[in-house]
Amino acid sequence: MGHDLIQIGAGQPQGLPGGAVPATAEFAIASTGAGTGKTFYIETFGCQMNVHDSEKVAGVLVQRGYRPVHRHEDADIILYNTCSIREKAAQKVFSRLGAFRKATSAEKKIIGVLGCVAQQEGDRFFERAPQVSLVCGSASYPQLPDLLAQIESGNRRVKGLSLDTEDCFETEFTRRDNRFRAYLTIIEGCDQRCAFCVVPMTRGPERSRSGAKIIAECQRLADAGYTEIQLLGQIVNAWRDPSAARWSFAELLSRVAEVPGIRRVRFTTSHPRYFTPDIVQAIDSHPALCDQIHLPVQAGSSDVLARMSRGYSREDYLEKIDCVRKARRAISLSTDIIVGFCSESDEDFEKTVTLLREVEYDQVFSFKFSPRPNTAASEFGDTVPEEVKSFRLAALQEVQRQIQVRRNQTLVGQKFEVLVEGCHPRLGQAVGRTTSNRVLNFPGDSDDLGSYRQVRVTSVGPNSLVGERVEEN
Ligand code: SAM
Repeated sequence: MGHDLIQIGAGQPQGLPGGAVPATAEFAIASTGAGTGKTFYIETFGCQMNVHDSEKVAGVLVQRGYRPVHRHEDADIILYNTCSIREKAAQKVFSRLGAFRKATSAEKKIIGVLGCVAQQEGDRFFERAPQVSLVCGSASYPQLPDLLAQIESGNRRVKGLSLDTEDCFETEFTRRDNRFRAYLTIIEGCDQRCAFCVVPMTRGPERSRSGAKIIAECQRLADAGYTEIQLLGQIVNAWRDPSAARWSFAELLSRVAEVPGIRRVRFTTSHPRYFTPDIVQAIDSHPALCDQIHLPVQAGSSDVLARMSRGYSREDYLEKIDCVRKARRAISLSTDIIVGFCSESDEDFEKTVTLLREVEYDQVFSFKFSPRPNTAASEFGDTVPEEVKSFRLAALQEVQRQIQVRRNQTLVGQKFEVLVEGCHPRLGQAVGRTTSNRVLNFPGDSDDLGSYRQVRVTSVGPNSLVGERVEEN
């Protein structure tokens, strides 16, 4: 969800008034001193998991004595945490490195490339971009302290590229950028073999963290003042407790929701194959579990779904949606769609459009198919012309825009509780999110940040709502 480019520099929190320094030191930090006096900057591309990986990498650096800075110009170490889910995303890091080489005296800085493009390109990175000293895929993050020690001792060709791991990236300190919502990875890697997707090749095999470790971290987050937790995984609902307790994913959700102090719990991304009715029952039973499910369908045609190796048909998927719609609570639904997948016909595409009309999602993230190296689909042939992909994407987005306008209009006059995550001091506006993940703007200021407010909707657009504050009762 929210898969388009996300960029955060270390120390540039989301939802804070310009330039504010975040209060993120939720755990005590004992610096090892190895990097004392040195500074770092991380730029992150891609999904929430990458954003959170960067928060953990930043924690490792801070613990070694490095200090985060807001601008790459001021940093001794610059890290790019990359995304290769689509070709365009993968190219970003190369354009950054090119621009950077022209603009600054790169030789004085250590440049590292982390994440999916690092894993995909491997050793070739050192040839393609000789200014790069560190190449490290996410499956090797547990080795990061060793890799940094090699950098500190002067090695300028350091790599962590093994995918053969059973370890999760556990950190003693995580430097979270968001003060209000804490990301928390519960499962790393991916064992699915969706024909279009590069993730299993870049993030390694599935590894679940134990239920007890997850609950302990939630408790620490609550103690540090966080009230919202977002559980993360490429396939978050494939989580299985590796410990003897053997909790199911739904059981984990219930237990996280019961942690004292936690008022909101979200989870992403769910795969329809593992989406079971007990997840809906858990949401129905625990008010802290948000009224929101992101369930990527990818396509509305069962033929395309079979070619994608998604493991479900259109009918199977609609049964899961039916189960969500029968919940006692009104649960907001969002999805991901790929248009122009190999051999997608006009009829196939039309089935995606009818699926959108049938389900009536509150939000859709849609993408043109982009062939990725080493995936099954890279062998199928990228048969749908670019202009047809563009046409289908625009048509689909217009259908969805109308659905969202219509659905949002039914909310005018209703009152919602929002967690205030940001504000625009110049406009006198605060920005909050409802439990169903809708953005709601209302008159407010920085005093509202981090608070829960009651807001009545007065007008709507396709992507956000506008409202006014009402008395709490
Ligand atoms: N692991 C999740 C799953 O399988 O549902 C989501 C992973 S991905 C970070 C987010 C979205 O990017 C996918 O749901 C899919 O819609 C899109 N995507 C993945 N590979 C793609 C590709 N090769 N071309 C275009 N979009 C792609």
